[in-house]
Amino acid sequence: MEKLIITVALTGNVPTRDLNSNLPVTPEEIARDVARCAEAGASLFHVHARDGQGRPTLDLEVFKEIARRIKDLAPEVIIQLSTGGRAGSDHRQRMAPVLLRPEMASFTTGSCNLPGIVYENSPAFLKDLARAFLEHGVKPEIEVFEPGMINNCLFLHQKGLLSPPFHFDFVLGAPGALPASVKNLLFLVESIPPGSTWSVAGIGSQEMPMAMAALTMGGHVRVGLEDNLFLPDGTPASNLSLVNWVVKAARLLGRAIATPDEAREILGLDHANKDRIMERI
Ligand code: ZN
Repeated sequence: MEKLIITVALTGNVPTRDLNSNLPVTPEEIARDVARCAEAGASLFHVHARDGQGRPTLDLEVFKEIARRIKDLAPEVIIQLSTGGRAGSDHRQRMAPVLLRPEMASFTTGSCNLPGIVYENSPAFLKDLARAFLEHGVKPEIEVFEPGMINNCLFLHQKGLLSPPFHFDFVLGAPGALPASVKNLLFLVESIPPGSTWSVAGIGSQEMPMAMAALTMGGHVRVGLEDNLFLPDGTPASNLSLVNWVVKAARLLGRAIATPDEAREILGLDHANKDRIMERI
């Protein structure tokens, strides 16, 4: 079986320190968490930015500072910046992290309901965002909350706006979107083109059950406080403790863990682009 890529969704837009005191919020805290999780076996880091008050922001300067500090403390890891919508609905701002030319950025290829909002990604926005990925040579992680989002990805590919191999992340169990079940996960995995890679991010208490399914199926795993604040035993999690939980499970199953460079091989990332983001920050 392919070595396991562990992705950490460190902060997200929704969790607060009141909900979990281990949440990294400032660029320094985020970078320190990255270094700790990288040491434990994580290779890919999904990054959101917060402002001085801890609120979600799309301010590029904050993204730059986070990237700078990560490169300083954990130079080998793969940085994936978020283009998610909760931090703001301005399309230009949402596309801006791609212009920093990180190795990867997230790309939700469709709309769905999420708690309290419609997570809106219109056809026109999807085309513009896909063009930005293509133009800047950034690999998208296709975030799939609903099955039709796979089809939208393939549509963009037909239009020449996305190029394979694709990496999908199935976000399952978000209230308002597709529930987390092994049946749904299997259906999604069987719906993506051959040669694609995939990971799963189960939301809340579904994080570890979905991670265990992916470990067994040969997929990859995303964990982190963005998606879930508690360990399976009910105690407050940290990003590190969630990574450690997955590493332990992978060991029990005999699944080897990918280093960042091995993750680059698996994802088809060009090693030459490893430090490219430094040119923009
Ligand atoms: Zn996110």
